[in-house]
Amino acid sequence: MLITEIKIGDKMKIPADQKFHPEYGHSGKVVWISEDGKTVAIQCEKRHNGKKVVFMVKINSNKWGAQP
Ligand SMILES: [Zn+2]
Repeated sequence: MLITEIKIGDKMKIPADQKFHPEYGHSGKVVWISEDGKTVAIQCEKRHNGKKVVFMVKINSNKWGAQP
């Protein structure tokens, strides 16, 4: 998916990440896109430790295509 196709409010899969978001298969809503379009913030639709959390995701990695 190209960054130009991403808009605030879009639902996206959150890439699994060793540090911040190790769980696979979570989706969330895009709540912020950086000016250069290379980073987005996604609010996970699932709660983590009972909280709603937002994850920053760099778009210029190929993680977007690596979801199971
Ligand atoms: Zn999550």
